[in-house]
Amino acid sequence: MIPMSFINPLSDEGKQIVRKDGGDLNRIFDENDMLIETVSSIKSQDISDDAYIPRNYVDLVIKRIEWYVEKKSDLKYNFKKFAFLFDAKITKFDVISFYILCQAVGVKFGPNSRESRAIVELQGQLIENRLEELITSERTEITEQIMNNLILQDKIKWTQLADLISSKKISMQDLVLKDGNVILDFEDYLEEFKDEVMHRQPEKMYNLLIGNRVKELIIIKMIMQNTENYIKSVHEQMSTVEPNPTLLKIAGEISEVLSKEIRYYGSGSGDGDVKASPLNVDLLPPCIKHALDGIKSGGRNEVIVLFLTPFLSYARLYPSVFRSNTSLKVSDVDADLKITKNEILPMIHDAADRCSPPLFDDQPQEKVNINAKLGFGMHSELKLQHEGETTWYTPMSCEKVKLNMPGLCKPDETCKGITNPLSYYNRNMRTK
Ligand code: SF4
Repeated sequence: MIPMSFINPLSDEGKQIVRKDGGDLNRIFDENDMLIETVSSIKSQDISDDAYIPRNYVDLVIKRIEWYVEKKSDLKYNFKKFAFLFDAKITKFDVISFYILCQAVGVKFGPNSRESRAIVELQGQLIENRLEELITSERTEITEQIMNNLILQDKIKWTQLADLISSKKISMQDLVLKDGNVILDFEDYLEEFKDEVMHRQPEKMYNLLIGNRVKELIIIKMIMQNTENYIKSVHEQMSTVEPNPTLLKIAGEISEVLSKEIRYYGSGSGDGDVKASPLNVDLLPPCIKHALDGIKSGGRNEVIVLFLTPFLSYARLYPSVFRSNTSLKVSDVDADLKITKNEILPMIHDAADRCSPPLFDDQPQEKVNINAKLGFGMHSELKLQHEGETTWYTPMSCEKVKLNMPGLCKPDETCKGITNPLSYYNRNMRTK
C-alpha cells in the first residue's frame, strides 16, 4: 500500500515522520547510507553516474528542484535519472526533504516569491506524476484516502473550495455541482442526475465528467494550497526568531538551481530561438515604431494597452514564446521585475504620453489596465503577490492589427510572410 505521506507530506503521517526522524538540521549535510542504499536499490533508477544518487537530505532537496527544472525546460530530461522520486520506498527521506525545502524558502524568500511559487508548482507536478505511476487500484485507493483525510464531511460544498477557486487553482468548470454540493461519487451522481442520465450510460457519463480525474485534481490543488500556507507560516515565524543559517544556505542553493530555468527560457533552445535581450529599436516592425511615436487620432487605449504592452514585454523578456509554446509569468523571466519596471513600463508610458491627447491625462485608469495585461491583476502597482490574477497577454497577430488598427500597419519588405509583429522582430534579430 502506498503511504499517504508519499502523496501528502503535510498529512499527520508525514508530520510524525518529521517529528521522529527529521529534527536535526545539523546533520542534514551528513552522508546518509540508508538513503543512498534505498535509491540505488530502485530498479528503474539510472545508477551509471554517482551524481544521480542523492547522498544526503540537502542533496535530495536539490534533486527535487533539478527534476522540476529539467522536466519543465524539456531540454535534457531523463526520467531514469530521477526515477527514485517516483518510488514510495523513499517516502521517509522524501517527506523530510519536503519540509527542509519549504522551510528554506519560507525563511529566506517568503510566500510571494518566485521561489515559493515554483516550489508549490513543483509539489503539484510531483504528486500528479506519482499518481500516474501507480496501478489503477492503488491510484484510486490512495486518492480516496487522501480525499477523506483532507475533507472530513460526506458532502463538499463548493464554498469549501472557495480558496482554490479564488486563487485560480481550480475552475468552477472542473466541478459538477448540485444544490451547491460538489458531486464526486458515482452513487451521488446517479442519485442527483438519474432522470438526465438514466438512458445514457450513466457510468460512462460519470467517468467522463467526474471520475478519478476531479478527485485527483482536488487533492493535488488542496495539497498545493496547504504547501503555500505552510511556507507562509514559516515566513511569519521569522518576525520573532533569527533565521537558521543552514536553511539560508540551502535557500541560496535552491534559488541558484531555479535560476537555470530562467536561463533555459531566456536563452532559447539554441536552434534559432531569439535570446531575451535589451530591445533593439531599429529592428522593430513598422507598426510598433508607429505606436511608439504615439497615436494622434482615436484608438489610443487599444494601441497602448492591447497592442504595445504585450509586444514590448514579450519581445524583451520572452521572444521565443510562440516557438516554445509554453506559458510563463513575467517573474519567471524577470524574477525581481527590474527589467519590467525599468525598461518595459517606461517605454509604454512614454508612448502613452506621446499620444494626442496624452493617454493618462484623461484616462489614468489605463495604467492599471497595462499592469493587468502583464498578468498582475487590476492594481496600480506591479507586485509579485498579485501576479497570476490576470493573464500575460501574448502579442496580437498581424491579421488582428490590420482588422482593428489598420492605420498602424504599413508593411515593408520584411513583413512578407510574417503573421505576427513579434516574428518580424525575431527574424530581424536572428539576421542582424
Ligand atoms: S504586416 Fe504585421 S508586422 Fe508588418 S507592419 Fe503590418 S502588422 Fe506590423
